Amino acid sequence: MSIALAILLSAAAMTAIVGVRYLIVSGAFAAATRARHPGLYAGLDRQMRREVGWSLASAAIYGIPAGVLAWGWQNRGWTEVYADVHAYPLWYLPVSVLLYLFAHDTWFYWTHRWMHRPGPFKLAHAVHHASRPPTAWAAMAFHPIEALTGAVIIPLLVIVIPIHVGALGVVLTVMTVMGVTNHMGWEIFPAPMWKGRLGGWLITASHHQRHHERYGCNYGLYFRFWDRLCGTDRGIGEFRHARARDRRGAGAARLPAGSDAGR
Ligand SMILES: [Zn+2]
Ligand SMILES: [Zn+2]
Repeated sequence: MSIALAILLSAAAMTAIVGVRYLIVSGAFAAATRARHPGLYAGLDRQMRREVGWSLASAAIYGIPAGVLAWGWQNRGWTEVYADVHAYPLWYLPVSVLLYLFAHDTWFYWTHRWMHRPGPFKLAHAVHHASRPPTAWAAMAFHPIEALTGAVIIPLLVIVIPIHVGALGVVLTVMTVMGVTNHMGWEIFPAPMWKGRLGGWLITASHHQRHHERYGCNYGLYFRFWDRLCGTDRGIGEFRHARARDRRGAGAARLPAGSDAGR
């Protein structure tokens, strides 16, 4: 098989994996939503179909660089991903997971905040915020430009920072689960994860809900570190009233009124 064909097949396989993973995980949490909060997504069928469409397009944008790199990892040693668990000290396993999550969070915070400037918002990020309120299907509902900013970070990190293949699996699982649950419209995690001392530093659905309510705040992905440091943290949102407020505001403000004030 030619190298070009092998790389193409790897990219196609990774696109299929990302797409199917999205359908399974978002589908499972959407089913959990129906069981736990029947009627929460009532009247949102059209929006959910749109979310699935954008998300599947994003799957290709995420899958192609990941597939090319997976081929390079297997055949050319392009990455710092290692398979021998003893290649680095065992304490490095959890440290590498935290390093990846923090680096990803940092990248997300600043690119997300940039995308709330009027130009990039109109061009790209408005697609994500057209979900009012978002559902479990909105996890990857991004304009291709935004999907590209999300798709490059993990491939860049695996070239630079060593990580065991299992630890990378943990990072990707956290990324997938938080992407879905942050948009689900209700809180699945126990209270200590979003209230109190620990919750003050972690991001779950309650925190991201407020971002979708108010736009110009709560830009982070996993941790509240950058939001708190930069004064963009506005606490957690309120699910019970979010729906009615979103209904009233629907169509009124596609642009982020006062987003990222001062910039
Ligand atoms: Zn969102
Ligand atoms: Zn946003």
